[in-house]
This record gives sequence, C-alpha cells and structure tokens, in this order.
Amino acid sequence: MTPRVYSAPWVLAGRAAAGATPAALRDGAVALEGDRVLAAGPRAAVEERFGAGERLDAVILPALVNAHLHLELSHMAGRVAGGEGLPAWIHLFISARALPRPEEEAAQAMIMSAEDMVRAGVAAVGDVSNTLGSVAPLAAAGFSGTVYQEVFGVTPARIEAALAGARAARAACPPAPGLRIALSPHAVYSTHGATLGQLLAAGPASIHLAEDPAERALCATGTGDFARMFSSLGAARSLRPRARSAVAFVAEHLAPHHLAVHCVDVDEDDVALLARTGATVVLCPRSNRFIVGKLPPVAALLAAGVPLAVGTDSLASCPSLSPLADLALLRRELPGIPAATLLPLAWNGLAVGAPHVGALAPGAAPGVLAAPLEGARVEDPFDFVVSAFGAEERPFTWLARPRAEALA
Ligand SMILES: [Zn+2]
Repeated sequence: MTPRVYSAPWVLAGRAAAGATPAALRDGAVALEGDRVLAAGPRAAVEERFGAGERLDAVILPALVNAHLHLELSHMAGRVAGGEGLPAWIHLFISARALPRPEEEAAQAMIMSAEDMVRAGVAAVGDVSNTLGSVAPLAAAGFSGTVYQEVFGVTPARIEAALAGARAARAACPPAPGLRIALSPHAVYSTHGATLGQLLAAGPASIHLAEDPAERALCATGTGDFARMFSSLGAARSLRPRARSAVAFVAEHLAPHHLAVHCVDVDEDDVALLARTGATVVLCPRSNRFIVGKLPPVAALLAAGVPLAVGTDSLASCPSLSPLADLALLRRELPGIPAATLLPLAWNGLAVGAPHVGALAPGAAPGVLAAPLEGARVEDPFDFVVSAFGAEERPFTWLARPRAEALA
C-alpha cells in the first residue's frame, strides 16, 4: 500500500507524557498507511522519507475521546429542565423517562447521535448504559473504548435485582470489536454501599461522583434531598453518616482504572484524596452548568496532578455530544487555563481502555482529523481547535478513520 502524506501549517501530535506540554509542529506532516500512522513530524523530514504530501489548509490532530456520555438517552434531548440542582433534575428525569416512547424513536436517536459524534471528531467513548442498547450503534459507527454497564438500587433487594438484570443483558449482548463492557455503580446516592465497593474492586468502572452538594449532605450528615429519597425507597437504615464527603466515602475503592465523573462539589481534601487514588476525573462542564449551575474546580484538579478527561454527559442535560464544545466552555469561563492544557483532556484514550486513541504514534491507528483553517492564520493551534472550531462545533474532516474490525 502506498503511504498517504498530508502536510499542514500545524500538526498536533496528541497527548504527551504527564506534565509535559503536547507538541505543536509548525509546518508539519503526517504519513499514513491505511488507518495506521507511519510518522508525524516536521514536513521536510516526513516528506523526505515518504514523498511530497498533499497540502492542507488545516490543523491536523489525533481523533478525540468523549469519556462520559449516555448514548441511550439521546431521545431525551431537551426533555428535562435543569437549574434546580441534581435531586430536582433526577425527579424530572425519572418522570420524563417513564413516558412511553416507540422503541424505534430511541434506536434512531442513538444512530443519529453516533453520527454526530463522528462529525465532532470522536473515535473513542466512555459510554454509560443501563440496557446495553448503546453497544450495537456504537460498534456500528466504529467507536472503541468502554461501555460502562450501570446498576443502581439502594436496598439489598433492589441492587440484587439490578445485578441479575445486568447479567441477563450482558449474556444477550453480542460481542462488539473494540468495545469492552464494565459493570459500574451509578453513584453513592443510588447504589447500595457494599455493592458499590464490590463493583469498584472488580476492575475498570465508572461512577458519578460529587456532582451536587446534596451528595456531601447525604454522606456527612444523612440529611438533605438524597436522604429523603433514601427514606422514600425504604432504605432509611443506610442513612447513618458515612464519611465527610462523597469522595471520602468511595476513595478507598478508587484506582487508576476508574472514572470519577463530575467532581464539582470537591474541597481541598477531596482533591488530595482523588489525586492519591490515580482515578481519572471526567469533567462534564456543560451538563454541570445546566443541572447544578457550577463548574468543577479545574485549576485545583490540574495543580494536584489528578488525571483528567472530558465528557458531554447525555443529551438530557447537554445540547450536543461534542467534547470539544465542553472544553470551549472551560476555555471561555477559565481564561487562565491555556487551550494547550485543556485539549489533551479530549485525547485521554487511556482512561476509557482505548490507549491507541489520542496520540499520533507510529504504528497506531488513532483516527486522524483535519480541522480546516479556511484561510485563518493562527499562532496558537490549540486555541483555534478549542475556541473557534470547538465552540462553533464545526465538523472535522477525517484523514484516517479506524474501522471497528481493525481494533484489538
Ligand atoms: Zn452521566
């Protein structure tokens, strides 16, 4: 197969080693063979080895990761109001989800959302599913990563039933190349405490954590809206104060193969605890803004060395599944954090079990994108990708897109 060579005013190489600034090559090039990267580097060096390239007026970069979404909730777009905090949102969500809908509508919404994610440059996902109904549309669209099969239930009887249902769904789910399935607890306020620990101890998993101050109130004092919910579900016995915060309650179970999603209501001690666990915190700022009206403490998490990724959450709380649009919000609201620091959050394939995604490494098939410059001359290509391309949700051009069959 003849190598394909593309050159551009800027080539971004993707995630760098911890603490290092990711490389931006001015007048760079990438050589590809099929889906695989042969080389990425200065244009002169790449063209000397592989021949003259096609010149693109674009920023070339590795494909992106949406580390937290719920594809199966795509048909709920615009159907749940926010702004009153998480407990209120959950009440509205449960009522809206209970409305009868044709199955075909939900299936079609998943297919369309998966296509939207492709246009948004996404190659790998950390998808959360209760039914595993998202596995087939994600696999068909060629995504790799992890589907976190989520269970909840605050009483022993309810969580046992949820686990039995999860086992049945898993047994009925056809294998999907490139996607692994990981059983996961929903959150501290929704999952029986002992089971929550067991699920995290079992291996890779994801948990919604510290999204709203109501979780702290439940864990620290056994009061508040979630405590009332516990009582109404017949789980009042679980209401003894358990830890000083939601993070403190689960920290002993968290490990580097876990995702802690949201982490908005975290204090200094929580941030230090999270850093010690090595778990990746997935930021979903547009969803947080919509539901709880706050953003996570990004600067503190970065300063503590907490591994970070970015997700969109579902269309029930976020207007699109573009992770770059979430980074654009952070860039706008937290101008002290450079785009070169934020963009690598969308290259964290490691966090979702897709380590080949997020870097232009020779031999790998990460998916390669071009973000057309349309004549713009940019001095900071990271800022162009986040603040112009991402904020406006412009569609990427794929220079190489791995097919699911090609993935390990
Ligand atoms: Zn979520």
